[in-house]
Amino acid sequence: MASDPVAALPPLRQVIAQHELAARKSLGQHFLLDLNLTRRIARLAAPMQGATVVEVGPGPGGLTRALLLEGAERLIAVEKDRRCQVALASLVEASHKRLSLIEADALRLPLEELGTAPRTIVSNLPYNVGTALLTAWLQQIAADPMVLSRLVLMFQKEVAERLVAAPRSKAYGRLAVLTQWLCEADIVFDIPASAFTPPPKVVSSVVLLRPRAQPLAPCRLSDLERVTAAAFGQRRKMLRQSLKGLGLSPALLLQDSGIAETARAEELSVEEFCLLARKLQALSEQGPE
Ligand code: SAM
Repeated sequence: MASDPVAALPPLRQVIAQHELAARKSLGQHFLLDLNLTRRIARLAAPMQGATVVEVGPGPGGLTRALLLEGAERLIAVEKDRRCQVALASLVEASHKRLSLIEADALRLPLEELGTAPRTIVSNLPYNVGTALLTAWLQQIAADPMVLSRLVLMFQKEVAERLVAAPRSKAYGRLAVLTQWLCEADIVFDIPASAFTPPPKVVSSVVLLRPRAQPLAPCRLSDLERVTAAAFGQRRKMLRQSLKGLGLSPALLLQDSGIAETARAEELSVEEFCLLARKLQALSEQGPE
C-alpha cells in the first residue's frame, strides 16, 4: 500500500522554521509536535467515519496531521492566525480534500455552519479563551444536543478538574454544574508542560465530553446560569444569604425543595440546581404577589 502523503510531509519543526511561526502568547500558542502523543489524542475522536471533525486552532498542524492519519474523512480546521493558514497549505494538499481551513475567530462561529452532524470538536485549546469557547459550545448544546456528539479538549489541568468536579469539592462550581448538566465529562490523561513548544507553566489534561441525549434534569439554561451565579458568587455563604442576589425570597425559592436554607452552593448536586432553576422560572413567571 502506498504511504499516506500526510506522513510524508516535512517534520513540523521544519514547517515552523520555514514559516517563521514563532509562538504568540496573545493567541495562546503552545504547539504539540510529538506524533505519538497527537495520535493518542486523535484516537479519542473515534469513530470519525461519516463525522465532521472540527479542529479549533490547528497552529502548524501537528494534531491536524494526527487526525488525518487516524482516519478523519471531513476535517474543518478553524484558525485565527493567518501565518498558520499559509503553513498548512501543503497539509491541505496532502489531505486529498479531506481537510479544509477556515480563517476565523472560533468564538464567533456557530457550529451549525461547520459541516453536518455528527460533529466532533478536537482542540489543543488556546488557554486564554478555552473556557469562553467551552461556554459558547455548551450554550449551543443546550439549544440543540445534536449539534455536537463529542468534544476532545485540552485544558490546563486546574480547569479540567473544575469541569469534572463532584459536589463538596473545592473545584466544584458553575463550570462543573453547566458542563455535567449537558455532558458526561472525564479527564482521560495528563500532558506534561515539557511536551509543548514552548512549554506552558502548568500541566495540561485531555478531557472527553459526550453531550447527553437530554440534559441531566429539565430546566432552562438562563435560569440555571442565574441560580449558579448567585449561589457560587458567594460560595462560602449559606443559600438563605447567597440566593438573595436573585431578587426574590430565598425562603420561597427553597420552599418544598428538600434543600436546607443553611446549605452552601458546593453541597448541591446538579439535579438540585436544576430544581432551583425550575422554581426560579415558575416564581418569575408568577410575578410579584
Ligand atoms: N493545534 C496546535 C497544536 O496542538 O500544536 C496548536 C494549539 S495552540 C495551543 C492554540 C491555537 O489556537 C493556535 O494556533 C492559535 O493561533 C489558535 N487560536 C487562538 N485563538 C483562536 C480563536 N479565537 N479562534 C481560532 N483559533 C484560535
